Amino acid sequence: MEIIDLGSKNSLIGNIMLQLRDVSVQNNKSIFRANIEKLGQIIAYEISKTLNFEEKEIITPLGSKTMSVISSKIVVASIMRAGLPLHNGLLSYFTEAESIFIAAYRQYSSETNFDIQTDYISGPEVNGKILLLADPMLATAASIVKTYHQLSQKSKPLYTHIVSVISAQQGLDNLIKNLADEDITVWTCAVDAELNRHGYIVPGLGDAGDLAFGAK
Ligand code: URA
Repeated sequence: MEIIDLGSKNSLIGNIMLQLRDVSVQNNKSIFRANIEKLGQIIAYEISKTLNFEEKEIITPLGSKTMSVISSKIVVASIMRAGLPLHNGLLSYFTEAESIFIAAYRQYSSETNFDIQTDYISGPEVNGKILLLADPMLATAASIVKTYHQLSQKSKPLYTHIVSVISAQQGLDNLIKNLADEDITVWTCAVDAELNRHGYIVPGLGDAGDLAFGAK
């Protein structure tokens, strides 16, 4: 498993992350969603460099040109509801991609303990495709691990890219522990050191679903 922290080098990702984390900007849901979408587009561009390409001949008004275009079959899977803006960003660049939606949530047995419940998964098979698994906040990574196993139960994707905005170090460690032997690259825009006792990333940005769509 490879982990790529796109925020570790100076780039415009830093300016977007600043707005996402800043409480004085966070009260605007539209800006928050737009910023997550932008990160989805930036990560899509980076992932595109790893895909398979084929040559296509096209006709211009003045001649013809052989061009390389993506031949990989892509499916974008997102955990609702927080994953939706990231999903939109990825889909706006991978315009031919298929979609899978996953309803997963934390079921708390006490104030600090929870299990991930998956209500339903709706979408096509992942067999032989490039799977982009989007979850903006990779906290414990329990939902990603569970979802990956459920999606690849019947047949495996050709390769999986886990797409996240902020990852907790503990979540990354958990991914390595549970999915080390799988063909997976994790793309994130920041790695934060801590999780609080409720499983939220610190300093993080808060609840991504609430900030994008309103408090539950
Ligand atoms: N989900 C969120 O929205 N934020 C976190 O910090 C962790 C999980």
